[in-house]
Amino acid sequence: MCGIVAYIGKKEAYPIVVKGLKRLEYRGYDSAGVALLDQGTINLYKRQGKVANLEAFTEGKNINGHAGIGHTRWATHGLPNDVNAHPHTSTDGKIALIHNGIIENYGPLKEELMSRGYEFKSETDTEVLVHLIDDIQKNENVSIAEAVRLALHSVVGAYAIVVLSKENPNQLVAARKSSPLVVGIGKDGDFFLASDATPIIEYTKRVVYLEDEEIAVVDLNDGLKIFNIGNQEVTPYVQQLEMQLEALEKGGYEHFMMKEIYEQPRSITDCFRGRMNAAEGWVTLGGIKEYEQKIINAPRIIMIACGTSWHACLVGEYLIEDLARINVEVEYASEFRYRNPIINENDVILAVSQSGETADTMAALELAKSKGATILGICNVVGSSISRITDAGSYTHAGPEIGVASTKAFTAQVTVLTLMALSLAHKKGSISETKFHTLLTELEAIPEKVQRILEKNTHIESIASVYKDATNALYLGRGSSFPVALEGALKLKEISYIHAEGYPAAEMKHGPIALIDEEMPVFVIATKGTSYEKVVSNIQEVKARKGKIIAIVTEGDTQVRDLADHIIEIPETDEHLVPLLATIPLQLLSYHIAVMRNCNVDQPRNLAKSVTVE
Ligand code: GLU
Repeated sequence: MCGIVAYIGKKEAYPIVVKGLKRLEYRGYDSAGVALLDQGTINLYKRQGKVANLEAFTEGKNINGHAGIGHTRWATHGLPNDVNAHPHTSTDGKIALIHNGIIENYGPLKEELMSRGYEFKSETDTEVLVHLIDDIQKNENVSIAEAVRLALHSVVGAYAIVVLSKENPNQLVAARKSSPLVVGIGKDGDFFLASDATPIIEYTKRVVYLEDEEIAVVDLNDGLKIFNIGNQEVTPYVQQLEMQLEALEKGGYEHFMMKEIYEQPRSITDCFRGRMNAAEGWVTLGGIKEYEQKIINAPRIIMIACGTSWHACLVGEYLIEDLARINVEVEYASEFRYRNPIINENDVILAVSQSGETADTMAALELAKSKGATILGICNVVGSSISRITDAGSYTHAGPEIGVASTKAFTAQVTVLTLMALSLAHKKGSISETKFHTLLTELEAIPEKVQRILEKNTHIESIASVYKDATNALYLGRGSSFPVALEGALKLKEISYIHAEGYPAAEMKHGPIALIDEEMPVFVIATKGTSYEKVVSNIQEVKARKGKIIAIVTEGDTQVRDLADHIIEIPETDEHLVPLLATIPLQLLSYHIAVMRNCNVDQPRNLAKSVTVE
C-alpha cells in the first residue's frame, strides 16, 4: 500500500511523478503529494484525496524541478488529510521524504526526537524518519546517504523510502525493507524510483529491484550505487522489463475492472499456454517441476493467502485433495503467522498473492522458511518479493491488474492451481488417463466458454438493476462453488458497499436462514454436478421463506429455472472447472451494481491493492 515514485534527470520531474502516481493510485488514494527541488529550494504540494485533487491544486502554478518525489497514500497512522500527506520534510525544509510501510517503533523514536526539540507537524509514523535522518546528518556530519543508512539501523518495521535533499541536488537516496522498490535506469543518464515498474515502463525497460535492507543512491554524476545496511557495496542486478505499456491503459473500457473482467478469456489462455496440451496429453508447471515429488511425498500442503487469493486457495484445496489425494490446509496468512503453527521440513507451504508483496503472506513464508519447510509461490507480479523469496513457483501471467477488486488475477490463480492439481495427480497416478484427458480438454475450452458468459453481459446488467438497492445479500454454493460464493460476496462488498456473506449452501439452516425475507437476494451457484440436487433443496428452503433467488445454472437447466427469480446460464463443463466459469457472472453483477450505485469501482473506499502493511 502507498505508492511512491521519484525522478531525477534532465526532464521536468513533476509531469513524470504525477503520471506515475496515477499508475500507482491502486495502492492508495487517501492523499497525494509531491516535493520538487527547484533552484536550491524544495517546494511541497500535498492534497487529501486522489491525485486528481493534487492536480487541481497545482493547476496554473509554475512548478519546476529536475528532481522530484511523489506519494499516494493509504493511511495507516493519522487521518487522511493534507498535513499527514507525504512527502514529509525536516524542520529546516532541507530534506523531504516519502515512505510506504509502517515504522513500528515510531512511538519511542518520536518521544526521543521531541525531547531533543524536534517538532512534529503530522500524526504519521513516517515523520520520525525525516527528523531522524536530519538529526543524524547534523550530529554526525555525514552524507545524506550515510545518514539514511544509520537512521535505518534504529528503525523497526517496513519501509520503502526515497529521500530528496536540498544539499545534494544531483542525488536521490532510496531504501527498502518489506515494501517494494524498483529503480529504473533511464536512457539519458536519468533515474526513476517507484513501488512497481508501472510508472517507469514508458521511459526505460532497464530496472533493478532493490532487496531488503538495501540502500540505493542515484546520482546524476556517479550513476547508481547500491549498498546494504552494513555498508557493503552490492552489484546492481539489472533486469529487462517485459511488461507492455498498453496493458496499463483502459483500452476503451469505462473502468479497469470491466477491462480486466473482459480480459479473462485471454488471461486464462496466457496462464495455461505452454503448460499443457490436451491433444498430446501433458501438463507441466516448469517453475515447480523439480519440487513435484517433494509435494507428493509431503504430509500436507499448507496454502497461505489473504482476501481473494485465499478464496483461490480454497478452490485449490478441493482440486488437489480430490485429484491428487494430497492433504491440503488453507490458512489466512495473518492468522497462520501469529499462532505458533506447527511446521516442519517435510511440509510444503504454498503462498498465493496477486501482487507478490502481501505483507502477512511474506511474513508467513519467512516463518515457514525458518522452520525448514519448502516454500512455493503463485504470484502475478513478476519479480515481486514473494517470487524472489520462495524456493520455486509459478506466475499467473494475468498481466497487470489495476482495478483494486481482483478479477482476472483470481481466475488465473485458479487456473494455475488446476494445472498444479492435474500435474501432481498425473505424476502420482491418482487420476485415470481418461479423466486426465477430459479435464485437459475441458480446461482448453474454458476461455471460449468465459467469452460466451461475457456475451450475456446485458442480461446480467438487467438483473443487477433489480438488486442495486439491496442492503444485504447472501451467496451460496457447495463443493468448489462454496469459495466462489465467498468470492462473489467479497466482490459485492468491496465495490458496492452492500453487506454480503458467502456460505456453504448446507450451512443456511444453521443460522443465516433467519435472515431470509422478501428483501433478501440470494445468489446461488446451482450448476450440474454431485451436489446439484442438494442445492436445489437449499433453493427450495430459501423460496419457502420468500427470498429472491438469482441462480447460476448449467445451460439447459429446467429444474432451477422454475424455482429461481432470475437465472444466468453458464456453459457446461467438468465439475472441477466450474469455479472458472461461475465466477464471471458474479463479477459482472457486482460491477454493474456498483456502477449503478455510483461507487468508485476501480478504487473502492478504504481499500488498496498490494497490501504491504500488516
Ligand atoms: N505509515 C505511513 C502513513 O500512514 C505510510 C502508509 C503506507 O505505506 O501504507 O502515512
